[in-house]
Amino acid sequence: IVEVTGMHKAFGSLEVLKGIDLSVRRGEVVCIIGPSGSGKSTLLRCVNLLEEPNAGKVVVNGFELTDPDVDIDKARRTIGMVFQSFNLFGHLSVLENLTVAQRKVLKRDAAEADRIARDNLKRVGLLDKVAAMPSQLSGGQQQRAAIARALSMQPAVMLFDEPTSALDPELVGDVLAVMRQLADEGMTMLVVTHEMQFAREVADRVLFMDDGTVVEEGPAANVIGQPRHERTRSFLHRVL
Ligand code: ATP
Ligand code: MG
Repeated sequence: IVEVTGMHKAFGSLEVLKGIDLSVRRGEVVCIIGPSGSGKSTLLRCVNLLEEPNAGKVVVNGFELTDPDVDIDKARRTIGMVFQSFNLFGHLSVLENLTVAQRKVLKRDAAEADRIARDNLKRVGLLDKVAAMPSQLSGGQQQRAAIARALSMQPAVMLFDEPTSALDPELVGDVLAVMRQLADEGMTMLVVTHEMQFAREVADRVLFMDDGTVVEEGPAANVIGQPRHERTRSFLHRVL
C-alpha cells in the first residue's frame, strides 16, 4: 500500500536520503529505527510529500504522490500522520480538533463528524475528555487525541514519527498501548521509534537506517535480535 523507490533528498549540499526503497503492505506494521540524523523524519515527510524528494517515486494507496499531476490534497487524505509534538489546535476543544478537518476537508456533516470523532476518542480511551481543551490534557492524552484526530480521517495508512519521545516516561505506555491496539485491529502503520521493545513485539518488519540508507531490514527478531551488520549492532548496543 506504500511503495517508495529510489528516493533521494538533499538539503543544499547535505545528502540526507541516498536512495531509499521501502514498501509496506496492507495491514503491516513497519518500524524504522536508527541514529539521530540518519534521515528517518525526512523519509516520513517525503512519504506524504510534506517534503519534496529530489528523486524517486512514492505511491500510497494507488496514488502516485510524486506525479506532478496528482491531486495532492486528495492523495494526502489517505495518510494519517502523528508527530513527536502533538500539534493539536490549542484554541479548539478536543472534540473540535477531531471534527474540523472532517467537516472542512471531507465535507462530513456535523452529526457524522461528531459520531466518528467520539468513536475514535473512545478507541484511545479519551471519551471523557471531549469537551476539554488541549492544555488541560497530559502529554500522553494529547498524543492519544492527536492519534484519534488522524484516525477520524479514516486513513489507509498511519505514519508515526517518534510519537512517544516527547513524553514523560510514565505516559509512554498508554500511547504505545493505543498503537498496539491499532496494529491488532489491522491498521497499516509506518512507525519511526526508539522503543525497541515495541518494535520487537509489534512490528512485522524493522528497517535500520543509517546515514541516509537502509542498512538492514527484516523481521524484528532478526534485525533487533540478531543483526547482521556491524552498524546495526553498534546502534543497538548504544540504545538497549
Ligand atoms: P532524529 O532521530 O534526531 O529525529 P532523524 O533520523 O529523524 O533524526 P532527520 O530529521 O531526517 O533525522 O534529519 C536528517 C538530516 O537532515 C540532519 O542532518 C538534519 O540536520 C537535516 N535536515 C532535516 N531537515 C532539514 C531542513 N529542513 N533543512 C536542512 N537540513 C535538514
Ligand atoms: Mg526525527
